[in-house]
Amino acid sequence: MTRVRRPVVPGWFTDTDTGAGFRLLGTRCGTCGAVFFPREDFFCRAPGCDGTGLTEVPLSPRGTVWSYTDGRYRPPPPYVSDPEVPWQPRTLIAVELAAERMVVLGQAAPGVSVADLRVGMEVELMPGVLGEDAETVWTTWWWRPVKTDGTDAADGVGGVYGAYGGLGAGDGRVR
Ligand SMILES: [Zn+2]
Repeated sequence: MTRVRRPVVPGWFTDTDTGAGFRLLGTRCGTCGAVFFPREDFFCRAPGCDGTGLTEVPLSPRGTVWSYTDGRYRPPPPYVSDPEVPWQPRTLIAVELAAERMVVLGQAAPGVSVADLRVGMEVELMPGVLGEDAETVWTTWWWRPVKTDGTDAADGVGGVYGAYGGLGAGDGRVR
């Protein structure tokens, strides 16, 4: 059986199957230019602005690490996790997007630990998998360090992601 790939929150990022063009989707106020993520579709939240014309904009695919931690608690929904399975800490990164002047939180790609990160480091967005059940692979976004010449910080990440790329094919992987 082929599992359906479905975003854990519809409308927050582009179709994960588009690969290289993967982007988070926010909205921009046509009145004051403020950008929102999570997206704000009806009313501008900027103080003093009464704009209602908000259009979808893809956010910058790269940013810098503003803060990070490893999640030692089980996150609330929409995070998908099996309460029967012991919680595995995952690295969380708050990423500052300069152009949008905002900070976006997200999981680090598998294999990225807090030891791999430092404030100010450049990271990039990539398609991720939040969880899966019998019918569905729930997709999300991950951040990973930008690979720079002379270092191999992202090497292991790419390998792990390659393995994840097969999850949607119903290949019988066990959680
Ligand atoms: Zn506005």
